[in-house]
Amino acid sequence: MSRAGKTSGKRGLATEAVHAGGPEARPGHPVVAPIVRSSTFHWTGPGDGVELRYGRYGNSPNQCSVAAKIAALEGTESALALASGMAAISMTLLAVAEAGDHIVASRHLYGATRALLAHELPRRGIAATFVDPCDPGAWRAALTPATRVVLIELPTNPALRVFDIGPARDAARSAGAVLAADMTFATPVGIRAAEHGVDAVVHSATKYLGGHSDLVAGAVAGSAELVGRVTRMMKLYGASIDPQTAWLLERGIRTLPARVERHNRTALALAKWFAGLDGVRRVIHPGLPSHPDHERATAMLDGYGGMLSIVLEGGGEVADRFCASLELAAAAPSLGGVETLVSQPRHTSHADLSPAELDALDIPDGFVRISVGLEDIEDLKADFRAAVAAALNANA
Ligand SMILES: *Cc1c(COP(=O)(O)O)cnc(C)c1O
Repeated sequence: MSRAGKTSGKRGLATEAVHAGGPEARPGHPVVAPIVRSSTFHWTGPGDGVELRYGRYGNSPNQCSVAAKIAALEGTESALALASGMAAISMTLLAVAEAGDHIVASRHLYGATRALLAHELPRRGIAATFVDPCDPGAWRAALTPATRVVLIELPTNPALRVFDIGPARDAARSAGAVLAADMTFATPVGIRAAEHGVDAVVHSATKYLGGHSDLVAGAVAGSAELVGRVTRMMKLYGASIDPQTAWLLERGIRTLPARVERHNRTALALAKWFAGLDGVRRVIHPGLPSHPDHERATAMLDGYGGMLSIVLEGGGEVADRFCASLELAAAAPSLGGVETLVSQPRHTSHADLSPAELDALDIPDGFVRISVGLEDIEDLKADFRAAVAAALNANA
């Protein structure tokens, strides 16, 4: 298994991020690929000896080059960029499961993924069972003869649990099912999931891959056979990525390893700092020894990620005031961009859950999720310190 930023090929991850999928180096040709907006390409018939190219097929130049870069980073045979993270997830599930089939999924999933499995896919005859991903026996116990997919998300949002992929993989293998993993939070810099037996590595490229909060996109990486099946769904449902967005995503990915390294460093330092700050009851970050999965995260991941969560004394009202008092960090959903963002899951990703359900997921009132950006850490500390003080003082 490769570690420390090495891909399974001979080049390192940072090198692949810059160069994979890039244009051929030829005298007089551009170093950076141009955006090719053409929706269609000259083609008279199979005798032309080239593939029929069309924007919705995902095989126009910018779509191909960003896909090649993603495959290189994940160390997979193939990859595909799509219109959004949800397009990547839904096309993957529809490629593998049909009416009468069953999906075993982690109960810690992105809100829209959970809604897709709980409400939308059942309308199409596809059932789902949700299990606790931290219980190694749960995966196999939930299998039925109809199980075609096992779906995980790692680390979990927002509790940042890092569980062992092995039991989910073994359950999927024993059922002949596809193991799909939403690795948006971990990024290929943190872990090359395919090396752990994940068949379909899925990303919301809107987040770290794009990295600048200026595009919406998704990605799927895996074998050519599996990616081909997802591509077929994408063609039918029309979930392809626009060439301009594909170009922008490729530009973002070039700096992914450099960005993630700094996100990780700042997040770990901020987590330690928050742990000593008055008014903060709990700090949740896999890099802290207090995190329940600290040892596993250390063994499994290259870096602990750029996400951290805090629980403020005084509950939801204090958290509301804290978010409203920030001047540098912005209160907004989403994550993985250059700017620091904070959000309260009870208002955003988990808004449809009751207080009891939130407690069961370990998201108490006062919980604030922080996507640590690339700002100077001293400026972030000053902003957070002032906002905590303002939130608590108004409470006194
Ligand atoms: C944002 C997100 C998604 C959905 O991605 P979109 O690009 O918004 O469609 C899926 N999974 C995770 C973990 C996410 O954070």
